Amino acid sequence: MTFYSKEDSVDDYLFKIVLIGDSAVGKSNLLARFARNEFNPNSKSTIGVEFQTQKIQINGKEVKAQIWDTAGQERFRAVTSAYYRGAVGALLVYDITRRRTFDNINRWLKELHTHCDMNVVTILVGNKSDLEDGREVSMDEGKSLAEAEGLFFMETSALDSSNVNRAFQMVVKEIYNIFSRKIM
Ligand code: GDP
Ligand code: MG
Repeated sequence: MTFYSKEDSVDDYLFKIVLIGDSAVGKSNLLARFARNEFNPNSKSTIGVEFQTQKIQINGKEVKAQIWDTAGQERFRAVTSAYYRGAVGALLVYDITRRRTFDNINRWLKELHTHCDMNVVTILVGNKSDLEDGREVSMDEGKSLAEAEGLFFMETSALDSSNVNRAFQMVVKEIYNIFSRKIM
Protein backbone atom coordinates (compact mmCIF):
# COMPACT_ATOMS: atom_id res chain seq x y z
CA MET A 1 0.00 0.00 0.00
CA THR A 2 1.36 3.42 -0.89
CA PHE A 3 0.84 5.94 1.82
CA TYR A 4 2.81 8.68 0.25
CA SER A 5 3.51 10.29 -3.05
CA LYS A 6 7.03 11.31 -4.01
CA GLU A 7 9.35 12.59 -1.36
CA ASP A 8 10.00 10.95 1.95
CA SER A 9 8.96 14.12 3.68
CA VAL A 10 5.93 14.18 5.89
CA ASP A 11 5.02 17.64 4.65
CA ASP A 12 4.18 16.20 1.28
CA TYR A 13 1.84 13.57 2.53
CA LEU A 14 -1.73 13.60 1.48
CA PHE A 15 -3.88 10.83 2.88
CA LYS A 16 -7.03 9.96 1.00
CA ILE A 17 -9.92 9.12 3.29
CA VAL A 18 -13.39 8.09 2.15
CA LEU A 19 -16.77 8.51 3.79
CA ILE A 20 -19.09 5.56 3.21
CA GLY A 21 -22.39 4.30 4.54
CA ASP A 22 -26.08 4.44 3.66
CA SER A 23 -27.82 7.53 2.41
CA ALA A 24 -28.80 10.14 5.01
CA VAL A 25 -26.68 8.79 7.87
CA GLY A 26 -24.92 12.16 8.03
CA LYS A 27 -21.73 11.69 6.01
CA SER A 28 -21.87 15.11 4.34
CA ASN A 29 -22.69 16.84 7.59
CA LEU A 30 -19.84 15.13 9.40
CA LEU A 31 -17.48 16.48 6.76
CA ALA A 32 -19.10 19.93 6.84
CA ARG A 33 -18.74 19.99 10.62
CA PHE A 34 -15.13 18.83 10.54
CA ALA A 35 -13.92 20.96 7.65
CA ARG A 36 -16.03 24.10 8.00
CA ASN A 37 -17.77 23.80 11.37
CA GLU A 38 -21.13 23.90 9.61
CA PHE A 39 -24.33 21.89 9.88
CA ASN A 40 -27.15 21.76 7.36
CA PRO A 41 -30.48 20.61 8.82
CA ASN A 42 -32.20 20.27 5.42
CA SER A 43 -29.56 18.62 3.29
CA LYS A 44 -31.49 16.01 1.37
CA SER A 45 -29.00 14.67 -1.09
CA THR A 46 -25.55 15.95 -1.62
CA ILE A 47 -24.56 17.54 -4.85
CA GLY A 48 -21.62 19.04 -3.11
CA VAL A 49 -17.92 18.77 -2.89
CA GLU A 50 -16.16 15.79 -4.30
CA PHE A 51 -13.51 16.03 -1.65
CA GLN A 52 -12.18 18.46 0.88
CA THR A 53 -8.56 18.84 1.88
CA GLN A 54 -8.01 19.41 5.55
CA LYS A 55 -4.82 20.11 7.47
CA ILE A 56 -4.39 18.26 10.73
CA GLN A 57 -1.72 18.67 13.40
CA ILE A 58 -0.18 15.46 14.67
CA ASN A 59 2.69 15.58 17.14
CA GLY A 60 3.43 19.11 16.01
CA LYS A 61 3.51 18.11 12.34
CA GLU A 62 1.03 19.16 9.75
CA VAL A 63 -0.61 16.35 7.83
CA LYS A 64 -3.08 16.78 5.00
CA ALA A 65 -6.16 14.63 4.68
CA GLN A 66 -8.13 14.58 1.48
CA ILE A 67 -11.59 13.54 2.58
CA TRP A 68 -13.98 12.27 -0.08
CA ASP A 69 -17.76 12.48 0.08
CA THR A 70 -20.09 10.37 -2.04
CA ALA A 71 -22.26 13.08 -3.61
CA GLY A 72 -25.31 10.88 -3.25
CA GLN A 73 -24.29 7.88 -5.39
CA GLU A 74 -24.72 5.61 -2.40
CA ARG A 75 -28.50 5.88 -2.73
CA PHE A 76 -28.22 3.58 -5.71
CA ARG A 77 -25.39 1.59 -4.18
CA ALA A 78 -23.33 2.83 -7.10
CA VAL A 79 -20.19 4.09 -5.46
CA THR A 80 -17.53 3.85 -8.14
CA SER A 81 -14.16 2.20 -7.85
CA ALA A 82 -12.60 5.59 -8.61
CA TYR A 83 -14.10 6.79 -5.36
CA TYR A 84 -12.23 4.15 -3.38
CA ARG A 85 -9.02 4.20 -5.40
CA GLY A 86 -5.96 5.00 -3.31
CA ALA A 87 -7.86 5.46 -0.05
CA VAL A 88 -5.82 4.67 3.06
CA GLY A 89 -8.56 5.53 5.53
CA ALA A 90 -12.33 5.21 5.78
CA LEU A 91 -15.16 6.41 7.97
CA LEU A 92 -17.89 3.79 7.88
CA VAL A 93 -21.00 5.63 9.02
CA TYR A 94 -24.40 4.45 10.26
CA ASP A 95 -27.26 6.28 11.94
CA ILE A 96 -27.93 5.13 15.52
CA THR A 97 -31.65 5.85 15.00
CA ARG A 98 -31.99 3.57 11.96
CA ARG A 99 -31.06 -0.06 12.53
CA ARG A 100 -31.10 -0.80 8.83
CA THR A 101 -28.12 1.48 8.29
CA PHE A 102 -26.23 -0.53 10.94
CA ASP A 103 -27.25 -3.86 9.37
CA ASN A 104 -25.81 -2.65 6.07
CA ILE A 105 -22.38 -1.95 7.55
CA ASN A 106 -21.17 -5.42 6.64
CA ARG A 107 -21.97 -4.80 3.00
CA TRP A 108 -20.09 -1.51 3.03
CA LEU A 109 -17.14 -3.15 4.70
CA LYS A 110 -17.08 -5.85 2.05
CA GLU A 111 -17.23 -3.27 -0.70
CA LEU A 112 -14.42 -1.30 0.92
CA HIS A 113 -12.23 -4.37 1.06
CA THR A 114 -12.86 -5.30 -2.56
CA HIS A 115 -11.53 -1.89 -3.63
CA CYS A 116 -8.93 -1.10 -0.98
CA ASP A 117 -6.13 -2.83 0.83
CA MET A 118 -7.32 -4.86 3.83
CA ASN A 119 -5.19 -2.57 6.00
CA VAL A 120 -7.17 0.55 5.15
CA VAL A 121 -7.56 2.34 8.49
CA THR A 122 -11.25 2.26 9.28
CA ILE A 123 -13.41 3.72 11.98
CA LEU A 124 -17.00 2.64 12.53
CA VAL A 125 -19.04 5.76 13.27
CA GLY A 126 -22.49 5.72 14.89
CA ASN A 127 -23.77 9.19 14.00
CA LYS A 128 -26.69 11.24 15.41
CA SER A 129 -25.86 10.52 19.05
CA ASP A 130 -27.88 13.65 19.91
CA LEU A 131 -31.07 11.72 19.07
CA GLU A 132 -31.01 9.49 22.14
CA ASP A 133 -34.82 9.14 22.17
CA GLY A 134 -34.82 7.62 18.72
CA ARG A 135 -31.93 5.25 19.33
CA GLU A 136 -32.27 1.82 17.67
CA VAL A 137 -28.65 0.67 17.95
CA SER A 138 -26.96 0.51 21.33
CA MET A 139 -23.43 1.72 21.90
CA ASP A 140 -22.44 -1.84 22.86
CA GLU A 141 -23.63 -3.24 19.54
CA GLY A 142 -21.50 -0.70 17.72
CA LYS A 143 -18.49 -1.47 19.91
CA SER A 144 -18.87 -5.23 19.47
CA LEU A 145 -19.08 -5.03 15.70
CA ALA A 146 -16.03 -2.77 15.61
CA GLU A 147 -14.11 -5.15 17.82
CA ALA A 148 -15.07 -8.16 15.76
CA GLU A 149 -13.97 -6.46 12.54
CA GLY A 150 -10.87 -4.77 13.96
CA LEU A 151 -12.15 -1.23 13.49
CA PHE A 152 -11.97 1.86 15.63
CA PHE A 153 -15.32 2.98 16.98
CA MET A 154 -16.95 6.23 17.98
CA GLU A 155 -20.43 7.66 18.32
CA THR A 156 -20.68 11.18 16.92
CA SER A 157 -23.10 14.00 16.36
CA ALA A 158 -22.62 16.31 13.40
CA LEU A 159 -25.42 18.39 14.94
CA ASP A 160 -23.87 19.09 18.34
CA SER A 161 -20.26 18.42 17.20
CA SER A 162 -19.57 15.70 19.70
CA ASN A 163 -16.61 13.48 18.78
CA VAL A 164 -16.56 14.66 15.15
CA ASN A 165 -13.01 16.02 15.25
CA ARG A 166 -11.88 13.08 17.33
CA ALA A 167 -13.21 10.55 14.83
CA PHE A 168 -11.43 12.12 11.86
CA GLN A 169 -8.27 12.73 13.86
CA MET A 170 -8.16 9.15 15.09
CA VAL A 171 -8.06 7.86 11.52
CA VAL A 172 -5.47 10.37 10.35
CA LYS A 173 -3.28 9.76 13.37
CA GLU A 174 -3.30 6.01 12.89
CA ILE A 175 -2.46 6.36 9.18
CA TYR A 176 0.33 8.72 10.12
CA ASN A 177 1.68 6.27 12.70
CA ILE A 178 1.69 3.38 10.26
CA PHE A 179 3.30 5.55 7.65
CA SER A 180 6.04 6.97 9.86
CA ARG A 181 6.97 3.47 11.03
CA LYS A 182 7.31 2.51 7.37
CA ILE A 183 9.87 5.12 6.45
CA MET A 184 11.98 4.79 9.59
P1 GDP B 1 -25.58 11.74 3.93
O1 GDP B 1 -26.59 11.35 2.92
O2 GDP B 1 -25.03 10.53 4.63
O3 GDP B 1 -24.53 12.64 3.40
O4 GDP B 1 -26.35 12.54 5.10
P2 GDP B 1 -26.50 14.11 5.31
O5 GDP B 1 -25.26 14.68 5.89
O6 GDP B 1 -27.00 14.73 4.06
O7 GDP B 1 -27.61 14.14 6.45
C1 GDP B 1 -28.89 13.55 6.27
C2 GDP B 1 -29.87 14.18 7.23
O8 GDP B 1 -29.52 13.87 8.57
C3 GDP B 1 -29.91 15.71 7.14
O9 GDP B 1 -31.24 16.13 7.32
C4 GDP B 1 -29.05 16.15 8.30
O10 GDP B 1 -29.43 17.40 8.78
C5 GDP B 1 -29.32 15.04 9.33
N1 GDP B 1 -28.16 14.82 10.23
C6 GDP B 1 -26.89 14.58 9.87
N2 GDP B 1 -26.11 14.40 10.95
C7 GDP B 1 -26.90 14.54 12.02
C8 GDP B 1 -26.69 14.46 13.45
O11 GDP B 1 -25.59 14.22 13.95
N3 GDP B 1 -27.78 14.64 14.25
C9 GDP B 1 -29.02 14.90 13.74
N4 GDP B 1 -30.01 15.07 14.61
N5 GDP B 1 -29.26 14.98 12.42
C10 GDP B 1 -28.22 14.79 11.57
MG1 MG C 1 -24.20 13.17 1.46
